[in-house]
Amino acid sequence: MPLESNSLRYAAHLPLAGIGAQGQARIRAAHIALIGVGGIGCAAAQYIVSSGVGELTLCDFDHVAESNLSRQILYKVADLGRAKVSVAAESLRALNPETKINSRAGRMADSDMQTLFPDCDFIIDASDNYGTRLAVNRTALSLGIPWLMAACIRLEAQLLLLRPDLPGQPCYRCAYGTAPETLEDCPGAGIFAPVAGIAGAAAAYFALACLAGQSVAQGLHLFDATHWAWQSLQINRNPGCRDCGH
Ligand SMILES: [Zn+2]
Repeated sequence: MPLESNSLRYAAHLPLAGIGAQGQARIRAAHIALIGVGGIGCAAAQYIVSSGVGELTLCDFDHVAESNLSRQILYKVADLGRAKVSVAAESLRALNPETKINSRAGRMADSDMQTLFPDCDFIIDASDNYGTRLAVNRTALSLGIPWLMAACIRLEAQLLLLRPDLPGQPCYRCAYGTAPETLEDCPGAGIFAPVAGIAGAAAAYFALACLAGQSVAQGLHLFDATHWAWQSLQINRNPGCRDCGH
């Protein structure tokens, strides 16, 4: 796949300070892994692919259900019962044939991550699963790959950018310790569809801006749609952390 594109598709990125032709070329050369193609993942994947990332690997064990359709906007009524990664891959290939789309159906075990992640430049975890996030944390730490945790519930979203590729940075366990974060499972508590879209677009922003080499705000970013308020918290490294402490 050529790293240079003759398409005018990305022309709007070129005048941007911090992106430009050099940043766009970095995006084009990059491979992103997206774990979880639900409400956040569907929105994130569309911006990632439309922006011309070179390769995207989709990971999800689930199948399309009617209750997904309000917010998982890559799926249609005709897709009910099909594997999400298959439907998403078809939609995304049609969106931008210049991006190579890979799909992995099934749950991601540590061994799967050890195989996939060394080929990746950035990981987005939108899995809504604490155990998966801890596994991503361990693997990303061992390989030094930047990643983003993205989650949403009700009218709230959380995004945590982690940079194990940089020295002295905290990890996911430093931020959340041994207890799951305050966001509960979304099916019971509910989620307002556009909030998943906001979180997904934000996840795409963090991934693409990091890959382009743009300066990106570190830490934990919390969004509350009720008050239309963003709050950013600095996360410090825990020297006694089980995963990254020494
Ligand atoms: Zn840690």
